[in-house]
Amino acid sequence: MINANGRSIMRDTKYIFVTGGVVSSLGKGIISASIGKLLQARGYKITIQKFDPYINIDPGTLNPYEHGECYVTADGMETDLDLGHYERFTGIRTTRANSMTTGRIYKQVIDKERHGDYLGKTIQVVPHITDEIKACIKYLGEHDAHDFVITEIGGTIGDIESAPYLEAIRQLKWEMGRDVVCVHLTYVPYLRVADELKTKPTQHSVKEMLGNGLQPDILILRTERHLSDQLRQKVAGFCNVDLECVIQSEDLPSIYEIPVNMQRQGLDAAILRKMGIPVGEMPDLGPWNRFLELQRTAEKEVRIGLVGKYDLQDAYKSISESLSHAATYHHRKMKITFINSEFLTPENIEEKLSGEDGIVICPGFGVRGIEGKILAARYAREKDIPCFGICLGMQMMVIEFGRDVLGFADADSTEMNPDTTHPVIDLDASQQNVSDKGGTMRLGLYPCDLRPGSRVEQIYGARTTGERHRHRYEFNNRYADAYEKNGMLGTGRCPDANLVEIVEIPELRWYIGTQFHPEYQSSVLHPHPLFMDFVGTAAKYQSEKSELCVE
Ligand code: GLN
Repeated sequence: MINANGRSIMRDTKYIFVTGGVVSSLGKGIISASIGKLLQARGYKITIQKFDPYINIDPGTLNPYEHGECYVTADGMETDLDLGHYERFTGIRTTRANSMTTGRIYKQVIDKERHGDYLGKTIQVVPHITDEIKACIKYLGEHDAHDFVITEIGGTIGDIESAPYLEAIRQLKWEMGRDVVCVHLTYVPYLRVADELKTKPTQHSVKEMLGNGLQPDILILRTERHLSDQLRQKVAGFCNVDLECVIQSEDLPSIYEIPVNMQRQGLDAAILRKMGIPVGEMPDLGPWNRFLELQRTAEKEVRIGLVGKYDLQDAYKSISESLSHAATYHHRKMKITFINSEFLTPENIEEKLSGEDGIVICPGFGVRGIEGKILAARYAREKDIPCFGICLGMQMMVIEFGRDVLGFADADSTEMNPDTTHPVIDLDASQQNVSDKGGTMRLGLYPCDLRPGSRVEQIYGARTTGERHRHRYEFNNRYADAYEKNGMLGTGRCPDANLVEIVEIPELRWYIGTQFHPEYQSSVLHPHPLFMDFVGTAAKYQSEKSELCVE
């Protein structure tokens, strides 16, 4: 096949790039996910990929304060949290090929150089690094026959780190012509004193793109105020972009409204037109719209306290999104309160937790804040408040039960106290001699058998499931009998490794801990059964509490 510029097209796959300008945190991930969602609704097979321009091989070793939560794919890659948005919006399963960093690109190139693959050449950013970037982009197009590969470039245009990516896109655009479309997301600030919206930063950002040989095809302007047609016209004129390709993205009450807002303004139609693909009718988003309708009309709240050590919302992104999916389907508004475990004490726990309808004990690493998590686990157990422990959260439930019910005063995880006489959480043999920190945990999807007759079997409606992991330490099987006899049951087990994956106390309202991370598998159209049941129980508990108050 030959394209409009007389150049041959390698495949039928089309490539969409999403870049950002002016400032970071504009929501490129949500825009990329929305584009994916809209093209999917038209029947196309899509995938979404993220390039992060930092030198780390993956974000697994990064503190959540740097880039928020670390998301884990089914095939065990630790990735940027934007991959979570891609999966939650579109229901696709991402893999290690969907997440790249500059560090990984360089490592691949350097490994090839050491292997002698470059036959004596001098290795340079152009062409070797840029070729590697292009190969990683095309890999997704060439495997699984995707119609569209959407590639989000992390960082902001103008950063030194972004330059090789822009060069790779420029080359792809030159090679493939219309099969490549560039969507650029910028910011239009509102200056209160002047009562004006300012387009100059957008103009500068586009200039920066042009300096790199890239003309954006579509501009998405993030704004807190509605932009007039006149202002959009001005941006179109200064930035060489068609008026219909200047789209605004105003702040909306829910991120899940964004695809609908983009569709209304014709973002997907504009992309197709740019690529010379017939546009046709605007598709109905069907169940997505029904989800939004439930979200908009929910009035009553359900209150969940997140007990964790990071007081930044991105650190527990997938958990809060999973809670909010579940609340929506129960026709409730999710009210999440962050409770810093570092500052929880026996004196203030009642004040901090008694108003919650449910408590989530969050994942984490290291000793900071764990005594607060143990206190929260005890409070929830004793007061019979629905409680969900996730990964480290489950381990804290086990430690608390060991200390208080089994009477092992120093029960602990060897992660926190290597000298404990009761290592109820310990390293599995497979982890004993691991010294590198990066990418060496138990990562990705593992099967889990559910005990017949258990609460979790009932919740999943199945005897077996598969969930994603990100941890090094495990429930110590030596203690299994003591726990079982006293009422904390290991109701999920990994069949191959015989590791405990789920603990529950059946006599309580909802007291379940999972060694895996169910939050990585909840999506808008398929909310996770554990979150559904937990939030449903929390809502019921709220009603029970208010009935008691009335009496
Ligand atoms: N730190 C714990 C472990 O490595 C739990 C990890 C987590 O919560 N993701 O096992």
